[in-house]
Amino acid sequence: MSNMFDANKIKKDFPILNDPKFNEGLVYLDNAATSQKPQQVINAVSDYYSHHNANVHRGIYELSERATNMYEDSRAKVAKFISAKHPEEIIFTKGVTESINRVAFCWVIQHVKAGDMIMAMESDHHSNLIPWQQVAERTGAKLEVLQVDEKGEISLEQIKQKFDELAGKIKIVAISHASNVLGTIFPVKEICKLAKEAGAVVSVDGAQAIPHMKVNVESLGCDFYSFSGHKMLAPTGIGVLWERKELLQEMIPYEYGGGMIGEVKTHTSTWGEIPQRFEAGTPNIEGAVGLSAAIDYLEGIGMENVRKHEIELTTYALEKLGEIEGLTILGPQEAEKRSGLVSFIIKKIHPHDIAAILSQKGIAVRSGQHCTMPLHDRLGISASVRASFYIYNTKEDVDKLIHELKEAKKLLS
Ligand code: PMP
Repeated sequence: MSNMFDANKIKKDFPILNDPKFNEGLVYLDNAATSQKPQQVINAVSDYYSHHNANVHRGIYELSERATNMYEDSRAKVAKFISAKHPEEIIFTKGVTESINRVAFCWVIQHVKAGDMIMAMESDHHSNLIPWQQVAERTGAKLEVLQVDEKGEISLEQIKQKFDELAGKIKIVAISHASNVLGTIFPVKEICKLAKEAGAVVSVDGAQAIPHMKVNVESLGCDFYSFSGHKMLAPTGIGVLWERKELLQEMIPYEYGGGMIGEVKTHTSTWGEIPQRFEAGTPNIEGAVGLSAAIDYLEGIGMENVRKHEIELTTYALEKLGEIEGLTILGPQEAEKRSGLVSFIIKKIHPHDIAAILSQKGIAVRSGQHCTMPLHDRLGISASVRASFYIYNTKEDVDKLIHELKEAKKLLS
């Protein structure tokens, strides 16, 4: 790892992690839900409101032009960050949930009919399952679900077999890049290749991948890629839908109103250029500005260093958690196959009890089903505990988690 990477130094940039209100310090291990924000992002949003605030794409006065430039610069920065060919392929949304719903209801619903197949993953977040259930219900298409094996991985052989069986019928494959519970990084590039051969387009939920690793949408070969800013240091309420340009032309607008029109008559209207056509109304300008600052921050560290740090922490966490008797880790056992999170259960102890006790010690972990009820059903468990890491977490944080877990276990057994 680069000698420049120092999680303790990074931690200093995050006011909430240094808040004296947390007497023993806050060990924040719920990064898969949302990340904390560095001062640089907070400053960027504050600076925008203090010095540059105006509505975008409307005024011809200097301030409005400046706000428009900041908003559009963010779009260009996002495009470069994910190696998209064109900035206009970036549509700002409020997050992954909205992005996937747009794919489902503005593109897919027009391209599937009764008898067609939609392929999704049973282990995925509800945001990447329920929209597909709804499209199937409304169109008469059939929803087919891929299942993970006992290691939490997906077999390309199983997928190929399904594609061969259903050749010509599958119209869309909706997968996640990384699971928010198992941590598994799925072989998206290989799945895209198989899907292309089967004549299907691929939509990827990148919520748990983009914050943690370098993603190149072009080399993945997918058609739609969704992610949320708030999991990658940016404010809440800003997200991204990337779509291949050819598909954008076929997409119907999601909302109608100001900012997205060409010409409006009393009874008919035409639509404006892409991407404005897909961003009706006043957008989340400060969110885009914050996202731009978040990308600067992450690129300053280097995404390859982010990934290396998380592999190191996850390897350590897997080893230490594995030593606790009665604890079962969900998902692959090798850190390289995972994003930086570990979910687990402890025999005879409810995950909520564990999380509540850890909370008293200043440790924030998530307990519950993490918006993946079908996955928990398949695993035969009612809930799990999830510890998820990011750039400011250290081995000492993992040590504290392990120590307090052992104490909680003594108390609850
Ligand atoms: N997909 C995955 C894999 C996620 O982890 C999440 C957030 N927990 C989402 C989708 C939904 O993201 P958002 O709430 O930002 O729309």
